[in-house]
Amino acid sequence: MSKIIVQDLTMQFDQFVAVNKVSFEVQQGEFVTLLGPSGCGKTTLLKMISGFLTPTQGRIHIGGKDVTRTPPEDRDTALCFQSYALFPHMTVRGNLEFGLRQQRTPAGDRKARVSQIAVQLSLEQQLGKLPNALSGGQQQRVALGRALSMQPGVILFDEPLSNLDAKLRDQVRFEIKRIQHENALTAVYVTHDQSEALALSDRVIVMRDGQIEQIATPEDLYHTPATSFVADFIGNANVMPAEVIGEADGGGWILDSKIGQLISRDPRDPQAKKINIAWRPELAHVTPEGPLSGTVVSRAFQGNFTDLHVVTQGQSYRLQVPHSDVSVGDEVAFGLDAKDVLMLEPSR
Ligand code: ATP
Repeated sequence: MSKIIVQDLTMQFDQFVAVNKVSFEVQQGEFVTLLGPSGCGKTTLLKMISGFLTPTQGRIHIGGKDVTRTPPEDRDTALCFQSYALFPHMTVRGNLEFGLRQQRTPAGDRKARVSQIAVQLSLEQQLGKLPNALSGGQQQRVALGRALSMQPGVILFDEPLSNLDAKLRDQVRFEIKRIQHENALTAVYVTHDQSEALALSDRVIVMRDGQIEQIATPEDLYHTPATSFVADFIGNANVMPAEVIGEADGGGWILDSKIGQLISRDPRDPQAKKINIAWRPELAHVTPEGPLSGTVVSRAFQGNFTDLHVVTQGQSYRLQVPHSDVSVGDEVAFGLDAKDVLMLEPSR
């Protein structure tokens, strides 16, 4: 049975519908991320799951109980968010113990639990310090530890890494994943950072304008995005209009686009004559045989690949090539495997 069930959840602020009839389930021990651009409704959805907002419509079940109108403290959830919200006058130990004191956990058990968490999060040396004597990464670990100390059935994260610099973000990201995995925690994580979502999640829920655009594993989201929006948002696929002009020999479809004629062997049938195609910049093979070509208008060396912006017939797109001996102004010829050309719905 699912740990969290969200059914037809809607949140309306006056005339504005921030979350619109959203439904999904999260399994016990699963890490699910709500991903989408700023304003798509992720935080509003998380606040309804945590109990800080009461939905206009719909139901939420956690651990088999209908908690739609249950206050946050009675929900078996813990929240970990970006502004760590540590108590500045309490030591790290005091912060980690806080929830356990509230729950009237006996002193011996409290001590044991805090020691265990301090070891898990490498905070043993910091227990006597005040939060302002800690680095951002350490503060974030204390915030995570405080949420974990309560041994919640569900842990909810709202952009917990957004105050950290890139290197630290990477490091804490791995720690969150390790701890979630080791403790078989059920987690719902909000972010607008697609690489964070892909790295952490068992499944990702992509949101747009208060609605779910796609729910899938990171691999499926990347390789078979359901919509042009998802293709563009995850991994910056090249998305461009095309017209279906016929069936290809041996299966698949012949497509006409500004960059030339292409064959798609996307197993999904085209939904209309005029569609969008999407293809990943790193899947183009640069070869003198083409058959496609374009003019390089900018290049950026990225270490293990070079990012090229290319234009053909006014259509601009990206190619990622393994070598860097291409200059701005060069004509570059490339091909695409038919299996890598995805057929999606036309833009809304
Ligand atoms: P971000 O990544 O920027 O935090 P988000 O996807 O988490 O964005 P929400 O914070 O859920 O987005 O907000 C969704 C929409 O609902 C926004 O347009 C926001 O302005 C609106 N909204 C959120 N809270 C309220 C409120 N209390 N009253 C009115 N409108 C609100």
